[in-house]
Amino acid sequence: MTRSEVMSRVRHKDTKPEMVIRRGLHARGFRYRLHDKKLPGRPDIVLPRWRAAVEVRGCYWHGHEGCGRMPKTRQEFWGPKIAGNRKRDARNEAALRDAGWRLLIVWECCLVGTGRWDREELLERVADWVRGGDGFAELEGSRPA
Ligand SMILES: [Zn+2]
Repeated sequence: MTRSEVMSRVRHKDTKPEMVIRRGLHARGFRYRLHDKKLPGRPDIVLPRWRAAVEVRGCYWHGHEGCGRMPKTRQEFWGPKIAGNRKRDARNEAALRDAGWRLLIVWECCLVGTGRWDREELLERVADWVRGGDGFAELEGSRPA
């Protein structure tokens, strides 16, 4: 397997933070499709009834700006990879919006690490957004001052 094949497996497996959001939405009565191939970027969670998609994004691979979870080492090695992911994410976000979809990005620092949200509060925020939040929104963990 090449490195990029390994990485794409890592990216597409059911990571734990994504499962938290999925279960939380399901428990609140939302129904969704997963990784819909017909939509740009195959968003993690797609709610057709709400014309909404939710992406749970790893801070490291998707280059969450200013986030404490970004890599401090091996920058010269992973930097271009992360920059490529960011570019691709931006392209997919624009394509989704152009197609009339709303998108919520939940950065993984909402769910792990010292800045994480209270879980129920986070899930309520996600549910509220699905019911009628802005076309494009992001949730991120709090950062130390
Ligand atoms: Zn982050």
